[in-house]
Amino acid sequence: MEQQKIFIYNTLTRKKQEFVPLKPNNLGLYVCGPTVYGDAHLGHARPAITFDVVYRYFQHLGYKVRYVRNITDVGHLTDEVAGEGEDKILKKARIEQLEPMEVVHHFTENYHENMRVLNVKSPSIEPRASGHIMEQQDMVDKIIKQGYAYESEGSIYFDVVKYNKDYPYGVLSGRKIEDMLENTRELEGQSEKKNNYDFALWKKANPEHLMRWPSKWSDGFPGWHMECSAMSTKYLGDKFDIHGGGMDLIFPHHEAEIAQSTAALGHESVQYWMHNNMITINGQKMGKSLDNFITLYELFTGKHRLLEQAYDPMTIRFFILQAHYRGTVDFSNEALRAAEKGLNRLLTGVESINKIKVTDKSTVDIKSIADKCYNAINDDFNTPVLIAHLFDIVKIINLLIVGKETIDNKGLEQLKKTINDFVFDILGLSNNKTSETKSDLSVDLINILANMRLEAKANKDWDTADKIRNQLSDLGVVIKDTKDGFEWEIE
Ligand code: ZN
Repeated sequence: MEQQKIFIYNTLTRKKQEFVPLKPNNLGLYVCGPTVYGDAHLGHARPAITFDVVYRYFQHLGYKVRYVRNITDVGHLTDEVAGEGEDKILKKARIEQLEPMEVVHHFTENYHENMRVLNVKSPSIEPRASGHIMEQQDMVDKIIKQGYAYESEGSIYFDVVKYNKDYPYGVLSGRKIEDMLENTRELEGQSEKKNNYDFALWKKANPEHLMRWPSKWSDGFPGWHMECSAMSTKYLGDKFDIHGGGMDLIFPHHEAEIAQSTAALGHESVQYWMHNNMITINGQKMGKSLDNFITLYELFTGKHRLLEQAYDPMTIRFFILQAHYRGTVDFSNEALRAAEKGLNRLLTGVESINKIKVTDKSTVDIKSIADKCYNAINDDFNTPVLIAHLFDIVKIINLLIVGKETIDNKGLEQLKKTINDFVFDILGLSNNKTSETKSDLSVDLINILANMRLEAKANKDWDTADKIRNQLSDLGVVIKDTKDGFEWEIE
């Protein structure tokens, strides 16, 4: 395969940079996975699908990819910025009267099932925070030895001021430590820390805290940020290519990761930081308090007061890919229905490639069509532009079917490969629809009836033509006359 030059927007440098792997043809990719204390929702779908396309594209190019996406099952506290409050898993376990590991197991399965129907590939390794306590303790030890952490009442805190003397703190988020000093407020229970923006690397557990492990400092548990530094280093080495996640993780989580890894290893470990933008619902931020929090299961079944119908997982996937990953995505019934129609048009269009009859001469340049697709994805994974090119391919297919353009055998094979590569392998779309009306048989039957209606019209048998149209309409199939014949769609 021809060498592709990929450009990635690096949050750290705030510009698009050409991607150069640390090791030729190898990619180390780490993405922050879910904290498993609730049903998978739209906020989980977006990073999963964004980085699934990154994973798929590098694999398509022949890279050997090690994709690590963690499961957070300990240490993620309710107040993320202050690093205080109750552990999210323990809170759910207390409310539901379950063992914490029952909560973890149930919602990990829920996440996996939802990712499977969204056609998100399983990562190479899916490490859990609770399974890497020793690795986290080792890294805390290293940070203490380097002088960037201190013990207080059995807990270990990262010393942000000390670190900032040697390395700049806030490089990723652009926050300045002086501003943070001004904006900090006194919070309860922070007296253990030297400064209240110091964050916990290890927390001493209260007597009633269930998830606890022994350490030389105290019986306790790791701070939330520690797991990603420890597990990325363990599986990808002390330098790796890409670290991804949602924009909401830039501060404090990823900022803390950079500080921890740099403090322990003496250098930054990540080459390219990629962040996907957030999702809004009808223009509003998604949140439990706003009653607009939609789980993926609710979307797939239509069971939520804001939803007017059920949406196929592929519609959700396509809808997310129609926006660039760094742009916002706003969910509404109108936008989802438009995505449903668009996806249907794309898949029906590419399927009709089988109707093309080859000739001994090509009038279409397949190489330039494929190049356009590569250029789009190479430009910071610009999926909306790629999708626009795929719709152009559908137009070309239609011209080939009616004979306005011609294609030879080799050209047709190349066209099929381009579609297969981009629609199915890279974007991960699939035409295994779950909704009942879209099976091939139904499509063929509707086409037969619509053609019979066309014949009736040609014979000026208006009664039969109207009867077919009205009866199909009763079944939700709307036929529209066009100058070339007909078009139909399912309402
Ligand atoms: Zn993380």
